[in-house]
Amino acid sequence: TLERLANTDRLTGLWNRLKFEQVAHLEIGRAERYAYPLSLLFLDLDHFKLINDLHGHETGDKVLCNLAKLIAKHLRESDSLGRWGGEEFLILMPHTDLQQALQLAEKLRSLIAGSQLLEQQTVSASFGVSQLAPGETLRDLARNADSALYRAKSLGRNRVEAQHLAAMPIPDINE
Ligand code: GH3
Ligand code: MG
Ligand code: MG
Repeated sequence: TLERLANTDRLTGLWNRLKFEQVAHLEIGRAERYAYPLSLLFLDLDHFKLINDLHGHETGDKVLCNLAKLIAKHLRESDSLGRWGGEEFLILMPHTDLQQALQLAEKLRSLIAGSQLLEQQTVSASFGVSQLAPGETLRDLARNADSALYRAKSLGRNRVEAQHLAAMPIPDINE
């Protein structure tokens, strides 16, 4: 019971940041060792402060709980879902490359925007997605997803952005 309490977010029942990080370290180690793709998705609710201001903090809390349930229903057994804090959530997806992660993000985006998380008002979220590159750590993966999320916000919200992949090395034609 104590361990469960230490690992879970009180409001949503999801894994908290600490537990998510522990799981992510293990999953990243496995993905590196067995050389399969692994992706991370960052999700941040749009204008959530406004939702609290207009409908109250308790309603805001309910939106967060319902959102957590909605997302959880659409994930695979092997995916890990956590609450990073506030209105930010993370999904770690082993055996998933950037293209597949983008597809899931788009599915969740349209699901959230189309669902009645709040009566009479649309709730939307912005997404940033990254894929683990060889030698990268959780920190790198999270930084890449976070900067993609930042771009999704600045490009107008309610959208999905992928990390910018490093350019492929250009073959030397003089060789
Ligand atoms: P943006 O689209 O740029 O993400 O705007 P935003 O308003 O969602 O972002 P901002 O970071 O300015 O505000 C986040 C808000 O989330 C502020 C805070 O009141 C609210 N929030 C954070 N944690 C909780 C919580 O546990 N419950 C509720 N009801 N609100 C929370
Ligand atoms: Mg936020
Ligand atoms: Mg937000």
